[in-house]
Amino acid sequence: KNMSPDDIKAAIREMNIGTISLQFTDILGTVKHVEIPASQIDKALAGELMFDGSSIEGFVRIEESDMYLRPDPATFVILPWKTREGRRTARLICDVYNPDGTPFEGDPRYVLKRVVAEAAEMGYVMNVGPEPEFFLFERPSAEQGRPVTLDHAGYFDLAPVDKGEEVRAEIVLTLQEMGFEIEAAHHEVAPSQHEIDFKYADAVTTADNIATFRSVVRTIALQHGLHATFMPKPLFGENGSGMHLHQSLFRGDQNAFYDPNTPDRLSEVCKQYIAGIMEHARAITAVTNPLVNSYKRLVPGYEAPVYVAWSYRNRSPMIRIPAKRGLSTRIELRSPDPSCNPYLALAVILKAGLDGIKRRLTPPDPVEGNIYHMPQAERDELGIASLPGSLAEAIQALEQDPLILEALGSHVASRYLEAKKIEWDVYRTQISPWELQEYLAKY
Ligand code: ADP
Ligand code: MG
Ligand code: MG
Ligand code: MG
Ligand code: MG
Repeated sequence: KNMSPDDIKAAIREMNIGTISLQFTDILGTVKHVEIPASQIDKALAGELMFDGSSIEGFVRIEESDMYLRPDPATFVILPWKTREGRRTARLICDVYNPDGTPFEGDPRYVLKRVVAEAAEMGYVMNVGPEPEFFLFERPSAEQGRPVTLDHAGYFDLAPVDKGEEVRAEIVLTLQEMGFEIEAAHHEVAPSQHEIDFKYADAVTTADNIATFRSVVRTIALQHGLHATFMPKPLFGENGSGMHLHQSLFRGDQNAFYDPNTPDRLSEVCKQYIAGIMEHARAITAVTNPLVNSYKRLVPGYEAPVYVAWSYRNRSPMIRIPAKRGLSTRIELRSPDPSCNPYLALAVILKAGLDGIKRRLTPPDPVEGNIYHMPQAERDELGIASLPGSLAEAIQALEQDPLILEALGSHVASRYLEAKKIEWDVYRTQISPWELQEYLAKY
C-alpha cells in the first residue's frame, strides 16, 4: 500500500479520479481539506500547494500565513461515498511545511512524528490499536435538552435490527473498502452507543486512521439521516464514549513488552513504560480528554477510569493489561476519549512512556480490587492519585509538566493552553438548566 508518486498518477488515470482532497488537522483535531482537480496532482505531490495558515485554528498569525502541503503518498485512498458524474474522489493526508521548506511546528502530525523519531532512536516502534465509541442520534440532535436515541439496546445486543445497526454495518463496509482491517463492531452499553475496533498499526498510521474513521462515521450516518457524535458524554446517567488505546513497543519484529521469563511475562521495559504514563497521567489527560464534557465521563460508576492505577484484570483503573502474551502483549490505556486530537494524544502518551524507560521508573503495585469502593484513606496509603476532575485541573497539570509541554512543542503548547483556557472560562460562567431547576425557586 506504500504508493510512489508514479503509482498515484497511474491510479488517478486507471480509477477515473476527478478530484483529490488534501487533508491535514488543526491543533484541536478537526480535519481540514482543500479539493484540487486531479490535473493539479503534480503540483500537489511536489509540495507546491499553498494555503493561508492564519485561517486555521492554532496555526499562525496573518503576517506569516503562507503554508505548504506535502501529501504523504502512503495515505492515498479513494473516498467510496464521493463520486461525481462517474468520477471519483481520492484523499491524501498531508504534512504542513513553512515557505523555507522546514516542517511547521504547529502541525499535529509533525508533533507526533518528532516523538516517534525519539522512540526510533531508542530502537522502538510504537504500535497502537484504538477502540473508538460513538453515539448515533436522530437528527436534528439536541437543539435543546437530551439527544434523541434510536434504541434501548445494550452491550453486544442483537435483534431486532434497528436503524443504528444497519448504519453501523454500512460504516464497517465503507471502512473495509478503504483498507481498514475491522476486528469487531458491536452495540455498546448505553442506548444508541456503538464501538468499532480496527487493527493496530504504527502510531502515525493509527492517528491518521482515527481521523479518517471519525469522518467516515459522521459521513455515513449523515447519509442515513442520523447524527453521529464522538462527544464523550452526551447522555446524563449513561456510559460515555471512550477510546481505549492498546499499545506496545516493538523492536524489529519482537514485542518489547513481552518477556517469557518473568512471572507475569511482561518485560521490564513494559513496566517502565507503564510507570512513565502514570507519572505524567494528569498532564496527559489535558490532551487525551480535551473537552469540558470529557470530565463528565471520568466519574465513578460508568466504566471510565477515575484513578491513576494499573491492573491485570480489573477494568476500573486507568491502565489494564489484557491477558494475551507473545506478539499481542500490550497495555490498554482506558482514559482517552474519541474527541481528542489523535496525533497530539499519541505524542504525549508515547513521550511519557519513553520517559519511564529512560529514567528506569518502577510502577507502583497493580491494584486488583475495585478502586471505586476503596475508602480515600486506603487510596492515599497506596499512593493512588486521581485523574483531573475538570478541564481546569487538567490544564493546570499540563502547565506544570515540562516533559509533556516539550512533547507538544512551544508553538502547539501555548496555542493549545490558550484555546482550552478560553473554553473553560466560557463554560464556567454559563448558567446551566440544572442550576436554574435547583436554585431558582428555592432561593
Ligand atoms: P478489549 O478487550 O478492551 O475490548 P479489543 O479486543 O476490542 O479490546 O481491542 C484490541 C485492540 O488491541 C485492537 O485494536 C488490536 O488490534 C489491538 N492490539 C492487538 N495487539 C496489539 C499490540 N501488540 N500492540 C498494540 N495493539 C494491539
Ligand atoms: Mg472492544
Ligand atoms: Mg473487545
Ligand atoms: Mg467499549
Ligand atoms: Mg477496551
